[in-house]
Amino acid sequence: MKSLWLENNRIDLRDVQEPRKLNEALIKIRKAGICSTDLELVKGYYPYTGILGHEFIGEVVAADDSSWIGQRVVGEINVVCNECEQCLNGRLTHCEKRTVLGIVNRDGTFAEFTQLPITNLHRVPDSVPDEMAVFTEPLAAALEIQAQINIKPNERVLLIGAGRLGQLIAQTLALTGCDLRVVARHAQQQNLLKARGIKIIGEEEIQPWRWDVVVEATGSPGGFALARKAIRPRGTLVMKSTYKGELSVNFSSIVVDEINLIGSRCGPFEPALRLMESRQIDPTVLIAEEFNLDEALKAFERAAETGVLKVLVQT
Ligand SMILES: [Zn+2]
Ligand SMILES: [Zn+2]
Repeated sequence: MKSLWLENNRIDLRDVQEPRKLNEALIKIRKAGICSTDLELVKGYYPYTGILGHEFIGEVVAADDSSWIGQRVVGEINVVCNECEQCLNGRLTHCEKRTVLGIVNRDGTFAEFTQLPITNLHRVPDSVPDEMAVFTEPLAAALEIQAQINIKPNERVLLIGAGRLGQLIAQTLALTGCDLRVVARHAQQQNLLKARGIKIIGEEEIQPWRWDVVVEATGSPGGFALARKAIRPRGTLVMKSTYKGELSVNFSSIVVDEINLIGSRCGPFEPALRLMESRQIDPTVLIAEEFNLDEALKAFERAAETGVLKVLVQT
């Protein structure tokens, strides 16, 4: 089958054998999305060799449980052991032996087929089209914030970063009714937010020590510094993006101000599907362009351009 293979910081189209591991479902990919993690993997921020891609909508073509065959599905990306200390205590996404679709020791979704255990799959409601369902994984990641902390409607919430994930975070935070402001650099990012009635704020307008919750979604030292400045004493700073290399932080001031630091990664799929089914969230406005799998290299070039939001690959 055709696939987009990453090896030694280089991606190329490769013919590889179809996956066919026992006990897992074989899934025909319909669409897959390029996310910042994919671009970072290509740059070599994390070591990975294999087929890239972890955001997808597909159709089950083979499975032990035949009731899944023919179903449109999305899939959770962490494949877990169910035996380690983390698994046994319910922290499944932190399984010590996990493989992660297209990220850690498991071939991903820029290919004709991928495979996952049935327990990772979620059926997609008929009313959620492919171009919407392909956003389930990043939307779930955005919802992880609300799975972790309780955002009250009267709280002042600052979101720093309005890229691929930031846009989805903004849409989900807006649903809480909180007093939300978003730092968005690019005109298109700002326009998408404004179109949904979400307020943007210039960096220079941000009052220091005033924000109850700050979500940092840029993954840049500058973004973190701004978040640190904005958060009020005993406020909660959610770190929603990874950082290249080491981040230099004055931790004494975080101790003195009693800041809650929350790391945030993968989130719940079912609420993400529900919010799209009810159209309370519309991620399709993020789509910049769609390419065929044959043009996946071009798709990656496009996704790496500044300010470009979601690029999809269809197979
Ligand atoms: Zn991703
Ligand atoms: Zn485990």
